[in-house]
Amino acid sequence: MNIILLGPPGAGKGTQAKLLEERHGLKQLSTGEMLRAAVAAGTETGNRAKAIMDRGELVPDAVVVSIIADRLETPDVAKGFVLDGFPRNTSQAQALDAMLAAKALKLDSVIEIKVDDEALIERIAGRYTCANCGRGYHDKFERPKRAGVCDVCGSTAFIRRPDDNAATVRDRLDIYNKQTAPLVAYYRNRGNLRTIDGMAEIGNVTRQIEGVLNGV
Ligand code: ADP
Ligand code: ADP
Ligand code: ZN
Repeated sequence: MNIILLGPPGAGKGTQAKLLEERHGLKQLSTGEMLRAAVAAGTETGNRAKAIMDRGELVPDAVVVSIIADRLETPDVAKGFVLDGFPRNTSQAQALDAMLAAKALKLDSVIEIKVDDEALIERIAGRYTCANCGRGYHDKFERPKRAGVCDVCGSTAFIRRPDDNAATVRDRLDIYNKQTAPLVAYYRNRGNLRTIDGMAEIGNVTRQIEGVLNGV
């Protein structure tokens, strides 16, 4: 099964993509995570992308399209994938169509996760992740069972993203509304878009996604 999770920053795409990996063995393909790894590793791509990401703007299409093209070549996507954060504009969506067509792969479902702007801002402000395994948490909505200790790997080191600040968030939401939101119509026209209520708690959102996938 190959799916896209579509939604604004903070909608819960990464959280749900990781749960889909665990439950269905689908591979999460997050361009944001791959770019952050490139920044941390100090690669040429990472060095060029860093300032753009810190401002909350989109890195050039050619960069993310080539990252996804490389990942689609690797064997671990054979059981299926969950795209999280890609595509982010019409030109990326068209590039994805071409890549999938060339590999005779199809998209089974595009799931739009809808969340109000005020809730997104609160989610982004409280977001942090385990520095060791990448498990996502939230100051208010998703705390580790033992304070300061990762549920998954026991690490006590956590990180916050430099772009998760009040100044950048508004710009990221603006960019989403202008450049990414048109993809809702793009996929609706092909008949494989489903919209779910992302305002619900994490477990409820997971159940809505399962409902969609059961119908695929
Ligand atoms: P995205 O990948 O769409 O940017 P994340 O999955 O990183 O979003 O979620 C943003 C933040 O909100 C994280 O801190 C996460 O723990 C929290 N979160 C995710 N889903 C929900 C939810 N349904 N209700 C409350 N908080 C959530
Ligand atoms: P969020 O979880 O808040 O939706 P991401 O982790 O998906 O954010 O992306 C973080 C940043 O990485 C974006 O603000 C952008 O600079 C860059 N980025 C990620 N994916 C893409 C993409 N498909 N196209 C262009 N830029 C991207
Ligand atoms: Zn961890």
